[in-house]
Amino acid sequence: MKKIYQLSTDEILKELGTSNQGLSTEEASKRLSTNGKNKLDEAKKRHFILRFLDQFKDFMVIVLLVAAAISFIAAILENKMTETFEGVLILAIVVINALLGLMQEAKAEKALESIKKMSAPHATVIRDGKEVVLDVEDIVVGDIIVLQAGDYIPADVRIIQSVNLKADESALTGEPVPVEKITDAIHKDEVPLGDRVNLGFMSTVVTYGRGLAVVTSVGMQTEIGKIAEMLSNTETEETPLQKSIAQLGKTLAIIAFIIVGVIFAIQIITALVKGVSPDWLEAFMSSVALAVAAIPEGLPAIITIVLSLGMTNLVKQRAIMRTLPAVETLGSTSIICSDKTGTLTQNVMTITDTYLYQQNDKVSDLKSVEGSLKKLVDFGVLCNDTKVRVKDDKFLKIGDPTEIALTDLAINTGFNPLDILANFPRVHELPFDSNRKLMTTVHEIDGKFVSITKGAPDIVLSRSVSYEVNGHVETINDKVSNVYLTENNNMADRALRVLAVAYKVFDKNTDITKLLHTELENDLTMLGLVGMIDPARPEVKDAIVETKRAGITTIMITGDHKNTAVAIATELGILENGHLAITGKELDQMSDEEFDAKLSQIRVYARVSPENKVRIVTAWKKTGLIVAMTGDGVNDAPSIKKADIGIAMGITGTEVAKGAADMILTDDNFATIVGAVSEGRAIFANIKKAIHFLLSCNIGEIVTILLGVTLGLALFPNVENLVILSAVQILWVNLVTDSFMAIAIGLDPKEPDIMNYPPRDNSKSIFADGLGFRIGWQGIMIGSLTFAAFFIGYNIAPADHELIHAQTLTFMVLSISQLFHSFNVRSEKYSIFQLKPNKYLIMAFFGCLALQLVTVFVPAIAENVFKVDDVHYWRFIDWMVVIGLSITPLVVVEIQKLIKRFLNK
Ligand code: ATP
Repeated sequence: MKKIYQLSTDEILKELGTSNQGLSTEEASKRLSTNGKNKLDEAKKRHFILRFLDQFKDFMVIVLLVAAAISFIAAILENKMTETFEGVLILAIVVINALLGLMQEAKAEKALESIKKMSAPHATVIRDGKEVVLDVEDIVVGDIIVLQAGDYIPADVRIIQSVNLKADESALTGEPVPVEKITDAIHKDEVPLGDRVNLGFMSTVVTYGRGLAVVTSVGMQTEIGKIAEMLSNTETEETPLQKSIAQLGKTLAIIAFIIVGVIFAIQIITALVKGVSPDWLEAFMSSVALAVAAIPEGLPAIITIVLSLGMTNLVKQRAIMRTLPAVETLGSTSIICSDKTGTLTQNVMTITDTYLYQQNDKVSDLKSVEGSLKKLVDFGVLCNDTKVRVKDDKFLKIGDPTEIALTDLAINTGFNPLDILANFPRVHELPFDSNRKLMTTVHEIDGKFVSITKGAPDIVLSRSVSYEVNGHVETINDKVSNVYLTENNNMADRALRVLAVAYKVFDKNTDITKLLHTELENDLTMLGLVGMIDPARPEVKDAIVETKRAGITTIMITGDHKNTAVAIATELGILENGHLAITGKELDQMSDEEFDAKLSQIRVYARVSPENKVRIVTAWKKTGLIVAMTGDGVNDAPSIKKADIGIAMGITGTEVAKGAADMILTDDNFATIVGAVSEGRAIFANIKKAIHFLLSCNIGEIVTILLGVTLGLALFPNVENLVILSAVQILWVNLVTDSFMAIAIGLDPKEPDIMNYPPRDNSKSIFADGLGFRIGWQGIMIGSLTFAAFFIGYNIAPADHELIHAQTLTFMVLSISQLFHSFNVRSEKYSIFQLKPNKYLIMAFFGCLALQLVTVFVPAIAENVFKVDDVHYWRFIDWMVVIGLSITPLVVVEIQKLIKRFLNK
């Protein structure tokens, strides 16, 4: 049997039961349901039970389980059945915590998955004779795929049409040079993968040209599927912050164990010194509880959940983030390198001016279009990939706005572009690419081949040897060149994008399709120029003002002419006095040292190549600032990858650019980038708030216990086995109420002035800038107030209830003061009355307060589970003490913020 590459294109179409018109939708869905989706196998999702058990792998959880078991066994051995509650409760808390963890994980995962779907690759497929854009997964064997530069080849295919089609197959073969693709059958037997030049392979990239291909195999049957049993990366990447928090957790664990050991020893020794028998079990349990209190075990999960919720929010703002670490970095963006066309401008081009040698016309004033001007109009339609159709007497156009503008020029001057296209069929072409900044098509005109080249005027001119004037062709000289260049500059100064159109005539005998770039795009005859306006997006001006306030520098990087770029950059406020605009060529001539010295002044780069873009990102990254860079073409992938935040255009971007990006803009708009940065800042701020809350509460708990074993022993020397908080109580506060509050804090609304500050310095620890200090003093305050509750509670207790009453008030103050404290972390300087209310936090506050009150209002629970005085033992004074001490952190921090705001004025 013949191999696929040995078959002719007709044979392969026949064999696969398809044609140039593609499959019918019906047939395709039949094939999809029998053969399955076009995707590589993913790692199987772990079963719910396994994932639940995963939660128990955590060291802290194991310690708790051991503690629960010991307390359970001890209670049974001592035959005190009521004591078994403690073990049961610890177990319950651990299970609740694991469930909470699992739910959060599932929620974050779901958010990530749905976002992943949004950025899933697409391909253009011919079905029922029409081009449709499909999810790559829905492609079946026999589908006809339309390929163009910047596409990933979505399955294994046989090429059936190639117009200079080239593919980068390095992902598969390791060969870095793009392979030229052909349609002819290869009549050899064993051809290695890299030499099967009439085939295309899944996950390789079309770098140049365009073509058609028929799908020969999908999913795991493809070459890439065969070599990779499991390619898709299912591991979720940890963000730098998650890593450093995990590290912090480990350090705290070590410290906690030392403290625990010391406290355990103190408890035992004091008991021995006093001559009473030590309560080993209680000492052990409270040490375990202290260890739990010290380690912020919930933090990594909270960070993930805040990041993934933020990601979901960003989608609503038209920015799709592709990785969690990027969401974290986003807020510290200092430099935004943005394309001009379509991102800063509307990408709605209208030709306003035409220019033939020394003849400048405004399109709106054109009376008659004939001679060379008609030729300019015709050539603009011919050297053009716009798809034109007529519907309801109107022309429908799909294509690149620059080219649509040329088609519109014909329509607006009274010609039918479809007639022009039909009269002069295209026989060959060299597609546009942003490196050459040229495009060429060859047509049969009046019995000759005419190649039409359009592109950047400076480049077209440099390749022209003659020019057309009054219908004659004359040799070009420097003077004439300068006339064209001056006109080009004049138009560009008016923010117009200028294209030049030139041509070259070949004899009919020429083997035209074999001609190379050098032959087709040299020795041209200059015909004329067109100038088109592409207005700035109205919202961009405000966005630029916002970036300036936020200490972010915007840099324009464009393939367009310098003068056009300068005009628009000036209008938008990107380029101001003292700033520089340079071209890619000027950049090429600079040494790295020169470039570094000027870097901060340069705000506009014009006529850049993709390599220039990489150099610009690299230079900025060297300064340590976080750089965002936009791109759309296949050649932009390296700079997008290199940037800290690579941004691809959702509408005009190629699949390759999207694949390389961290963020995809669904509206291609610069203002969206700025909005996303502000959202990124808010997300980071919320993570910081959650860290602030959890760590200060942890410190509060540690301080309480430390004060208990030091000051407590000194103040109450006669109390046997003094324990100011039981293990169950600490675990309750730490693992139940705190978790809910922290999530609610993570959902805090954006602070109003979040874009009034310079970006945060990513190299600094998040605890710099005073966060560490605030966590410290506020934690100590909570701990001291809680200890005060013990002291007061002991002294105002009903007779014979001293210790339990003191413990009751301690437990209540520890928990409720943290609930109040949660409002403190919402802002460093604003009063809670100045901030937009956080409804989640308010709900969590009342929910947790209710849970806390249950512990004293339900006598059975109070007595058996938490071992506290139920409300029957409470008097008015007790309530006053609890409320007064619990609310103190809020009052103190509010006063401190008031002073801060006053001093800042
Ligand atoms: P940006 O990089 O900001 O999006 P751009 O769209 O101008 O700017 P390119 O698409 O790389 O950048 O275009 C560079 C130059 O190539 C343009 O200034 C124009 O002179 C020329 N050009 C653009 N599109 C075409 C085209 N379809 N055919 C021929 N020349 C083109």
